[in-house]
Amino acid sequence: MELARISRERAVDAVYKALRQAILGSLIRSGERLNVEELARKLGVSLTPVRHAIQQLATEGLVEVRPRGGTFVASLTPQDVEETFDLRCALECLAAERAMRRITPQDLRHLGQILESLRMPVRTEEDQKNHERANVEFHMVLIRAAGNRRLLEMYEALNAHIKIARIHASDADWPTRLQEEQSEHEAIVSALENKRTAELVQALRKHIYRARDSLMAAIKENSLSAQRNPE
Ligand SMILES: [Zn+2]
Repeated sequence: MELARISRERAVDAVYKALRQAILGSLIRSGERLNVEELARKLGVSLTPVRHAIQQLATEGLVEVRPRGGTFVASLTPQDVEETFDLRCALECLAAERAMRRITPQDLRHLGQILESLRMPVRTEEDQKNHERANVEFHMVLIRAAGNRRLLEMYEALNAHIKIARIHASDADWPTRLQEEQSEHEAIVSALENKRTAELVQALRKHIYRARDSLMAAIKENSLSAQRNPE
């Protein structure tokens, strides 16, 4: 019994990873229907791990389970990005105001270390993953420092980082824009260090809206090139 349960958990994990990779890499496209039986057959597993993996992907916002309507890869349109990033900006600016009074010297040191790792060039897929992780962590330091559990939950529910990863996966040009991102992150840290709240909020807003606009532009560009090169 014990062994069977372990191996089933491993199957769920393997299916989850395979599907997540396929969605992030646009192997399965935005809006596409997911057929549980077909996926189970292709992956050589039973239906149960596929269903469990789909539930996990749904909590991350990567798939949408429509009641009586089937399961689809969550759509990702410029409007999805605009709505997500508008809320992200509101929550993050509020968090920044709260964090200003609560941020510790350790937090500031941690931010400095993250800035260092964000400075590394992005050449491989592994670099890209590390970069995205460090970027998420950078913003989470601020969110956590606000000390508001509800704000943290709302922020996490936006799943902004997953939307970013999906768009970056199909946008080969984004590492060339890293210079801009780095100087924005530096401005955020310097405002925090100097305890300048208005400057901090302004720097965050600039960073998040610039990211929003470039992600929206990347989606539009991708959908145009997909129309030009139909598979
Ligand atoms: Zn950032």
